[in-house]
Amino acid sequence: MRIVELELTALTGATVDGGWPQDLEAEENLHTLVRLKSEDGLVGMGSCFTSGKLVEGAVELLWPLLKGESAVEPERVSDTLRESTFWQGRGGSVEHAISGIDIALWDLMGQACGQPVSRLLGGVYRDRIRPYGSMLFDEPEPLREALEATVARGFRAIKLGWRPFGRRDHRTDELLVRTARETVGEDVSLMVDAGGSEQFWPHGVNWAKRTARMLAEYGVEWFEEPLPPDDIDGYAELTRSSPLPIAGGEVLTRRQAFLPWISRRAVDIIQPDTTKNGGLTESRRIAGWAYDHNVQMVSHGWNTAVGLAADLQLAAAIPVALFVEYLTPCAYIEDLLDRPFELDEEGCLEIPSEPGLGRCLDPERVARYTASERVFR
Ligand SMILES: [Mg+2]
Repeated sequence: MRIVELELTALTGATVDGGWPQDLEAEENLHTLVRLKSEDGLVGMGSCFTSGKLVEGAVELLWPLLKGESAVEPERVSDTLRESTFWQGRGGSVEHAISGIDIALWDLMGQACGQPVSRLLGGVYRDRIRPYGSMLFDEPEPLREALEATVARGFRAIKLGWRPFGRRDHRTDELLVRTARETVGEDVSLMVDAGGSEQFWPHGVNWAKRTARMLAEYGVEWFEEPLPPDDIDGYAELTRSSPLPIAGGEVLTRRQAFLPWISRRAVDIIQPDTTKNGGLTESRRIAGWAYDHNVQMVSHGWNTAVGLAADLQLAAAIPVALFVEYLTPCAYIEDLLDRPFELDEEGCLEIPSEPGLGRCLDPERVARYTASERVFR
């Protein structure tokens, strides 16, 4: 069964603010869908956390290697793309593009075998998981309203991230966290993401230690990206002494980049992004290393419903899984699939057991959010 076509769809119209200093407009294109077709008409879907133009450029490079390849050997085919782009690739947009292709390859194999991707990744440890609603910090009053809306949508775990947390002073940080805890109560899990991968992050280990102590007092479950993403020594020191778990790793690409973070136990929770790091093939390997070092893994998922569908299959197939990330509210999560994901009364998502990723893109819905398309044959 051969691959005969690759279609890219750049998404626009519902891009949510990333909390970055440069304001993002809804029209901005940050995510690109991949559809891979096999010669017998199966379609696998993937998602890349990179703009359509960059994915297109990467696919110009990758398509000659992918065209005519097997549609049912995701790991070998992805590794071939990665190993064959040693000069232009090894990270960045090429790896982001491989990520979307890899997710689509696993979806294709699942459909061809009539099995969910979770089973093909090694086996099904669980059939449901709690997602955490992922949202940005804000000033106290709008923050309170946004949190109430998220709890009303059924979330029993919420992560708050980025501005203005960590950008003014300790008093503001504590006010925001206190506001959040008072609003959601004790029964909703809260996580805090400083967003230390933002450019020119000004804080070091001592700021992070002091802030971690404050967060622990409010029962926060983890402290994410409190330091710049290259400060592995700082992370290792912080993780050894922190009163709450330290999380990070969303900007890393390729499994090799994760190795020192896991082997040195530089974080308590490693957060690979399957739409950036090389796809399910790499995330599965990272999950194995993490488990063997007793480091937790929670996928980073600020992307699309296809990314969430992949994260759910992965979460089913790893021995220990705490959560999946669920960007909310976000039309690219809630309005692209034939059947949207739904929270049950306990705030959990059912993990699809149908073949492949267990969901399909709805062409009419996708058309509403399409900035541009490109087909490779
Ligand atoms: Mg983050």
